[in-house]
Amino acid sequence: MRPVTKANVGDVVTLADGTRHSVTATYAPYQDAKPALVANLGRFCSYCEEAYHYDRDMHVEHIQAKGLAKYAHLETVWTNFLLGCATCNGTDNKGDKDVVLAEYHLPHLNNTYKSLVYMAGGVVIVNPSLTGDSQVHAQALLELVGLNKTPATSCPGDKRCLKRGEDWKMADRYLKKYQAGKVDEDTILDLVTNRGGWSIWFTVFKGCDAVRARLINGVPGTCAACFDAGNHYEPIDRNPGKNDPV
Ligand SMILES: [Zn+2]
Repeated sequence: MRPVTKANVGDVVTLADGTRHSVTATYAPYQDAKPALVANLGRFCSYCEEAYHYDRDMHVEHIQAKGLAKYAHLETVWTNFLLGCATCNGTDNKGDKDVVLAEYHLPHLNNTYKSLVYMAGGVVIVNPSLTGDSQVHAQALLELVGLNKTPATSCPGDKRCLKRGEDWKMADRYLKKYQAGKVDEDTILDLVTNRGGWSIWFTVFKGCDAVRARLINGVPGTCAACFDAGNHYEPIDRNPGKNDPV
């Protein structure tokens, strides 16, 4: 899952219509935060990474569910927002689950590219190299939004695994084109910007440092500090020195 850097309150972002906007601590109604979130994080679901071109398909996602009384006070709070799609936040997936922040890896707090491993066929698993709390909290994230679901275990409307499988095949095709000099980094960035699937493309293009750099710097909100420019942009711990460093 692409790790992102949320804008801080007071940071200035450029909205889609070109106006500049200073991020505020609260947005009421909460839907008013969507333009700033899109400017900050790009037109992607923060969880499944699908690209959404129309605002109505992308929702202000409450990390801690506004439907739970204990988090009702966070309904309008910027720091509780990400962008989410109807599938990831549907009742079969995240819905109103009680997200205790310390028990989950989350894309704005952890290096969630290191938490999960994306594979051919659209399969997503917890990074086998993780241990202890990191392993538990990555698993919690995977199950929170149902990225471990397959066509056999998904509800009929949940096509995310199939889409990831298609993304993997496309990324693999374009890797060969890139290696043959038929496409450049901008083409890859355009494809990811328009299709989503950042983590899949980033995985498939391992070893192609120029593409990885473009995907980090060209997709809004990507947490550049989560990747080591001196080591082929491999993921590094986001919170070193802490019990749960990923
Ligand atoms: Zn989603």
